[in-house]
Amino acid sequence: MLPFKVVCWNCGKEARRDEWRWQDDCGGAFDIILDLQSRKFTELIDAKEENIRRYAQFLPVEGLLSVHQGWTPIVKKKISGVEVNFKLEYLSLGGSFKDRGAYVSVAKAKELGATGIIVDSSGNAGISFSLMALLSGIAIDVFVPKHAPEGKKNLLRLLQANVHEIDGDRMEVNREAIKAEREGLVYVGHWWNPYFIEGEKTMAYEAYEQIGGVDYVVVPVGSGTILLGLYKGYQELVELQALNKVPEIIAVQACGYSEICKELGARKECVTKSKLADGIAITNPPRREQIVEAVKRTNGHGIIVDDEEIKEPLVELRKLGFIVEPTSATAYAALEQSIKEGFIKPKSKVLLPLTGSGLKLVDELIEIKECLKM
Ligand SMILES: [Zn+2]
Repeated sequence: MLPFKVVCWNCGKEARRDEWRWQDDCGGAFDIILDLQSRKFTELIDAKEENIRRYAQFLPVEGLLSVHQGWTPIVKKKISGVEVNFKLEYLSLGGSFKDRGAYVSVAKAKELGATGIIVDSSGNAGISFSLMALLSGIAIDVFVPKHAPEGKKNLLRLLQANVHEIDGDRMEVNREAIKAEREGLVYVGHWWNPYFIEGEKTMAYEAYEQIGGVDYVVVPVGSGTILLGLYKGYQELVELQALNKVPEIIAVQACGYSEICKELGARKECVTKSKLADGIAITNPPRREQIVEAVKRTNGHGIIVDDEEIKEPLVELRKLGFIVEPTSATAYAALEQSIKEGFIKPKSKVLLPLTGSGLKLVDELIEIKECLKM
């Protein structure tokens, strides 16, 4: 494991590494800063492992579970003259990209002595954390909005999580989860937890090994962990002399939950709030400023999509063989718009993670299909 520091993003103060903390006294979120020691990427990889443990040297945690996590396939397609690389994150053990962050976070919480963990989630993060908690033999309390999809809630119960349904929006669910913290029971919610981002960054490492560098990354933004993870992963790849530059990041949000994209200059007339993109229905994520800064630094931009624009791409993705949730289709919708509007140049190379499985949301997918009469 490379040496690392835990640093507050807001005030720059360093925190202790031997206790679980999710927020600094100043109110800021923490980041992990690795000391890469002028090393090269390839010399630090454990090539025997075809899973996240391949990158154990870059992860600030001991005792990662011996289960297959990560190393998801990439499928290449030519779309409107652009090479699009779909990374099939939805084929992960828990059916979403959030497995990566949960895998690293649960190992860290356990390493620091937690006997149980608390998360807040619209569904996917709760499922990933519950699966990792089950595999690690620790207890888990999951706080979800009452209106979260039934399929996701049932799966949480099957995974032996204590499910708390909160009558309120996603921000209210977050407040309730934080209130439940007590001795030995730590809040590991992905909105704040820096170890979650460390797990997510492995997606960039994998994509680099699978297809080399890319020109653009298109990602849905809810709490922003996939975006910040990819950004950090690519930044480290540059520092490790594997790549020359971080790809341009295209952040995608849905109507009603689009503050980050608005700050990035995206404009759209939204008639109603998105009901379909439940995975990114977050009004004010704590790492908002950090996300905006990351996108700007890559010369990226934001795209806002509405529910009508998600429906067709969702069907198109199925026709390509990808059974994904509506939230994943936001990125595909944004890809098509970005190509049309010239944000994505012809003949360029794009990474597009397909974030979550549609198998958790069959009822919702049928509803959409009926709306479209297809
Ligand atoms: Zn601080």
